[in-house]
Amino acid sequence: MSALPPNLFWNRSSITPAARRLRYGQEGRIVWFTGLSGSGKSTLATELERCLFACGRHVYLLDGDNLRQGLCSDLGFSTADRSENIRRAAEVARLFADAGFICIAAFISPLRADRDRARSLVPPGRFVEVHVHAPIEVCRQRDPKGLYARADRGELKEFTGVSSPYEPPLSPEVALHTHRDDVETCVNQLLHHLEPSGPRTLNAS
Ligand code: ADP
Repeated sequence: MSALPPNLFWNRSSITPAARRLRYGQEGRIVWFTGLSGSGKSTLATELERCLFACGRHVYLLDGDNLRQGLCSDLGFSTADRSENIRRAAEVARLFADAGFICIAAFISPLRADRDRARSLVPPGRFVEVHVHAPIEVCRQRDPKGLYARADRGELKEFTGVSSPYEPPLSPEVALHTHRDDVETCVNQLLHHLEPSGPRTLNAS
């Protein structure tokens, strides 16, 4: 945390992290999805949230597109705005984790430094970086939102992977290969990491 201005103090809750752990039966943490547009972040994050909720977990999904329609609606896609977008998202995710929730965050988050800053907001071990990977040709072919087509027509400037950089994670906790493995396989891989001995009810509704 950066140094506080002299007129600000950090107010401590009377509810300890241990009390929250006991109440919820889980440790608050951030599961951070990063990857190109069309790699499968929203699909997998939505399915993971559904599975964890069905298992009785306290979980909430923060989706990049959703945040851009509210909290981050004043931001564009310049490097500075993207960093600010991720900074705000990470701060919100940190609050959820602090409250004892599993916060799933799905953001392209192209820059390593921005993701590392998000990681630094929670204690060691409470940030799970998930690289959702598919080659750009596959993402382009899927193009679920028609964004690659728009970028190719020059309608979208600074589009990640096309006209703006993407820095893949160097050592993510989980790497998913969505061109090779289907959604169920990817979500099971995530559940294995998050709940090594816990309940897995992938098809629970
Ligand atoms: P993103 O959020 O990364 O932009 P989306 O989840 O919106 O990507 O879109 C990914 C697209 O790829 C969806 O149409 C989804 O059905 C498809 N898809 C195919 N295989 C997979 C997989 N294994 N994991 C996730 N999505 C997949």
